[in-house]
This record gives sequence, C-alpha cells and structure tokens, in this order.
Amino acid sequence: MPPGQNKRIGLFIALAGLFLFSACGSTIGSAGTPSAQGNGTITVVAAENFYGNIVSQIGGTHVNVTSILADPNVDPHTYETNVNQVKAVARAQLIIANGGGYDDWMDKLLDSTPSSDRKVIKGFDIAKTKLPDNEHVWYSPANAKDIASAVAENLKTIDATHATDYDKNLKTFQNEVGKIEQKMAEIKAKYAHAPVGLTETIFLYQTGPMNLNVLTPIEFQKALAEGNDPPANTVVTAENQVSKRQIRVFIYNKQTQSAITTKLQSDVSAKNIPVIAVTETMPPDKTYQSWMLSQLEDVEQGLASNK
Ligand SMILES: [Zn+2]
Repeated sequence: MPPGQNKRIGLFIALAGLFLFSACGSTIGSAGTPSAQGNGTITVVAAENFYGNIVSQIGGTHVNVTSILADPNVDPHTYETNVNQVKAVARAQLIIANGGGYDDWMDKLLDSTPSSDRKVIKGFDIAKTKLPDNEHVWYSPANAKDIASAVAENLKTIDATHATDYDKNLKTFQNEVGKIEQKMAEIKAKYAHAPVGLTETIFLYQTGPMNLNVLTPIEFQKALAEGNDPPANTVVTAENQVSKRQIRVFIYNKQTQSAITTKLQSDVSAKNIPVIAVTETMPPDKTYQSWMLSQLEDVEQGLASNK
C-alpha cells in the first residue's frame, strides 16, 4: 500500500446503492453474500468469520449465519461492503461484531438499518482480557469462551425452545477451547522467556499467557496493526534483532503486510530463523479451535527447531 493511503480515515460513503466503509484506507473487494433465510432458523450476521464460526458451533442447525469478513488474504482493518450486506444486517435477528473500533463499519450498517428486536453482541465489550491499544480480543481463548457464553445466552433468549441444544453445544465448544489453553500451557512450560519477533499486536494475546519474550518494538507492531509505516528507528531495531539472530522465531500477520515486513521476513529466512504466519481472520477450511491450535503447533515446532 502506498504510504498515506492506509491511515484510519473512517470513510463512509453511500453512493448509488453502494456502501463503502474503510477503517484504515485501502479497500478490499470480496465480501460474503447473505445466504437464503432458512425456515425457522435464527438469522445471524457476523462481522468477522471467526465470530460467525463460534455462532455456527453454538447454534448448530438452528442458525443461519452470514459472515461478512471471511477472506484471509486481505487486510481486515480495511473493509468495503455492499447493498447485500445492508439487507442482511437489516433482516438479522442476531449480529455479532468485534467492536472496540475494529469494525466501525458494522455500527454504521446497524445505524442505517434500525431494528427494535435485533440483538447485538460485541466481542470487545464482553472480553475480560484486554491489552492496551489492541482490539484483537478473540485471540485470547479465555475471551473466546466468554463470548461463546454470551452467544448461547442470546440464542436462548431468541429461541428458548432449543435452549438445551445451545447449552450442550456451548459445553462442547468450551471443552475444545480448553485444548487451545492446554497447548499454550505446554508451550509455556517448554519455552517460557524464549525471545520471539512479532509484526503485529494480534498475537500478543497468546505470547503473553505463554510468557514468550516479544523483542520487536511495540510501536512497530502497532503501526502495522493500524496500517501505517512503522517508525524508522523501530525498523532498525527489528532488523538488528534478526541480523544478530536474537529471536528464535518470527511470527508475522499474513493479513497486515507491507514492504517493510516482506523485507524483514526475507532477512529472517536468510538467517534460518523459522517464519510463522498467523492470520487475522479464520481460514475458510478451519474452525476457531483448529485455526488457533494449528498456529500454536507451528509456533511450537518453530521454537523446537531453533534452540
Ligand atoms: Zn490486526
């Protein structure tokens, strides 16, 4: 992205039936389209597919979920939506979004389609674990459990008939998220204090509980999360940490890349430091749990291979 084009500008344009929103600059093309409303099912719209997946798991056959941000190859800090999503939000019975400034475009969609009986869940508002200037609360398994509980409560309010199903599915989900927490505990037991590199703040929700020592300057990570160029001195620091092989693995967010991270990544590879990709939204072939677990397994393998 050219510098200056990718700042948070909160652009809101409604033009010829096309709604265009942008959190931090460049726009992305693909977005989910609403699927047909099922008979007797609860119509749900999720701003992001990881929340949509959690609702699908808790709701089972009783929900019909449309996820708006679902493409793991784009930067979700930016977003463009169309009239189909406006319609989907307008008729949804339950909306789940992150909030906390991450997906303001959803607030605008909600404002433009007032509804008295629609329920709205914001992951950021439910999360108890919150890092400063870091909206990526779904990366904390503890937060995911609390958000899933809120989903179950809302589904039960909308559809009390199937309350036992929602409770049962919630329990299954919580147990599986427990496996993510267990994996993090294992990594902590083996690799606590290991120095690592990180391009974006997203993974701090996991490096923290695992006690990994993130050496990359926080201002570097924050700039990337906001789609800005990192301060020059932080780039120098990050480059030095690589050239001196001070980090054991390099964890980068595949969805918030820039020329600087691409260069850093190739320098990391040249130094034979394991490179681990994480994503901001869930790959379409995964569930929330399998996504988090596979990334953690990659981190574990990387640390094991570079002692
Ligand atoms: Zn991010």
